[in-house]
Amino acid sequence: MIPIILGGEKVFTQDKVDVVNPGTGRPFKEISLAGRDETRHAIELAEESFHEFSRMPLSERTKILWRTAGLMEERREELAVALASESGKPIRDARVEVTRAIQLFKSTAEEAKVVLEGKTFRVDGYEYPPGNERRLVLSVREPLGVIGAILPFNFPANSFAHKVAPNLAVGNTVVVKPSTSTPFTSLLLGEILYEAGLPKGVLSVLPGSGDLVGTEIVENKKVKGITFTGSTPVGTSIASKAVLSGKRLMMEMGGSDPILIFEDADLERAVTISVKARFEYAGQNCNSGKRILVHDKIYEKFVREYVSRAKALRVGDPMNEETEVGPLISAKAVNEMEDAVRDSSEKGGKIYVGNKGNGGFYFPPTVVENANLDMVVMKKEIFGPVAPISKFSTWREAVDMANSTEYGLQAAVFTSNLKLALNVARELKAGAVIVNDSTRLRWDSLPFGGVGLSGLGGREGIRSTMLTMSEEKLISVDLE
Ligand code: NAD
Repeated sequence: MIPIILGGEKVFTQDKVDVVNPGTGRPFKEISLAGRDETRHAIELAEESFHEFSRMPLSERTKILWRTAGLMEERREELAVALASESGKPIRDARVEVTRAIQLFKSTAEEAKVVLEGKTFRVDGYEYPPGNERRLVLSVREPLGVIGAILPFNFPANSFAHKVAPNLAVGNTVVVKPSTSTPFTSLLLGEILYEAGLPKGVLSVLPGSGDLVGTEIVENKKVKGITFTGSTPVGTSIASKAVLSGKRLMMEMGGSDPILIFEDADLERAVTISVKARFEYAGQNCNSGKRILVHDKIYEKFVREYVSRAKALRVGDPMNEETEVGPLISAKAVNEMEDAVRDSSEKGGKIYVGNKGNGGFYFPPTVVENANLDMVVMKKEIFGPVAPISKFSTWREAVDMANSTEYGLQAAVFTSNLKLALNVARELKAGAVIVNDSTRLRWDSLPFGGVGLSGLGGREGIRSTMLTMSEEKLISVDLE
């Protein structure tokens, strides 16, 4: 049995969960679960340690981040195998995620001293209030306090790094609630941070249910900020409760990113990228290209090529180096895919099915041709390997279709006409528009997030997290 991490101590609890390996459908690790009491205790420890931790010189805090990155490098393969085993992410992709998480700790340590700089203001340039000519006004950035970090199942290392590293740099203390489907990677990272010299109390890692651990984090008045990544229904419900106690919010929620392909697009590139954007990690990425909209002049050719590539994808054991598409996270997720495909078929979609893996929670890469706006796959976020393809004739029609959902995370546009790309980019409802490349692009230092029901509050990214999770304070001194 694996213990929880309560302010740096390893604690075994009464409750436990069998984390299942989605590739086999069999138990992978038995993990202790936290409840409300442990969560309350972790928040108290985080609050008590905040005073000292926030006053530690930044260079000391960034040294802990550098050492964490170094220890992660030493344990890179162990972390990747743990991540792949509990999440079903193909091992090659799991390695990429761990490498990104290591880089994230390093970049945070590198960028903190610049991002957290204050400024001085030339108030002698203003006539009001009187006396400005004698004043020096400057600003400093201060940490918020205890931050609650609620993680999704699909990026256990990268999401942890995004929510923990910038907050520690700022001087905040953090209570992490990983998903109960993928808690092991977070526990390993928590252990590494303490090995790197993190003072006791500053961080807890509490696998546990949303109803217990999640609710305590959201309702506890000692928690000053919430950084959440997960689905839109859970995120909006958390936000509505968290604002009642005045918490700072960073809510990264669901998406149904459109890919718009125009008649002058490089077809080979558009097909290759949109197949990968939809089927990578079996479609379980927030910014997967979940709806494909194609100009009617190239539609037939595009669909033929897309279907043949989707059918050729190598589906199977996430531990196999050749695997391109692994399993879904759970049997429930497989049922959701079956329902979505049935709905598409009943509403006039033509269905093409690729290979299926054996043993675990597999669902074959599936393409829905003739997708229309009545179908669930075109309205809601489908978190699995189902690709609806629809056609348009004008760019306005394409934009209207793209903007027809409640989400607005990212979008991609394929065309060789830069003016068209820019016009479309300006009209799309999205946090980022990617021209001639994948909706999956993300730069960890830059702000990432969505509009509409894809995001609320501050954007996630090394710099923006440090700014959102700190307070700018002005100090005015009369020098007379
Ligand atoms: P989820 O919403 O089911 O769970 C997310 C987290 O919230 C889990 O830790 C869960 O235990 C917790 N939770 C559930 N109920 C809660 C409650 N009442 N109070 C507090 N916490 C609660 O999401 P998931 O299935 O783990 O992840 C997939 C979702 O995450 C998808 O919708 C995906 O698009 C989204 N996602 C978004 C981004 C982004 O950056 N926008 C990135 C990755 C994933």
